[in-house]
Amino acid sequence: MTSKYAGGCEHIHTTSDVDPIDVHTCHCSVCKRVTGQDTTHVAFFNHGDLDVDNEGGLKRQPFNDQNPDGPLELCTCATCGNPIMLDDKQHRIRVIVPNLMGHDSAAMPATYHAFYDPATGVPRPDDGRPVHEGLRPDFVWPQGY
Ligand SMILES: [Zn+2]
Ligand SMILES: [Zn+2]
Repeated sequence: MTSKYAGGCEHIHTTSDVDPIDVHTCHCSVCKRVTGQDTTHVAFFNHGDLDVDNEGGLKRQPFNDQNPDGPLELCTCATCGNPIMLDDKQHRIRVIVPNLMGHDSAAMPATYHAFYDPATGVPRPDDGRPVHEGLRPDFVWPQGY
């Protein structure tokens, strides 16, 4: 059986048959620092929608090393070191950066720009997609547990 979304590395696979609840181009400084990319294509899945076949094979570290008690953990493969996902200690979401985490970027197009900060001096994106200084205002965080 093939999942609608599938990625990961050869040791750990992440799959979902349900669409992500939010997909954006992230301009935040944490993504910049962690990925080394000017902007990061980010997909939020409902926590329960993204399956991981080998959770025991994950190595977990704080996503934001300047806020180690924050809810998001960067999960990498303990065997090969590939980034696999961001997991949320509050079990609200799981986050995939498709181009770094083995997923198909084209399958989950970003619908807007998030965390754009004019103070950085980066020109405002003009590709026609909405630009927000945070997540889109109508985004609702799923219930955690
Ligand atoms: Zn970000
Ligand atoms: Zn691996």
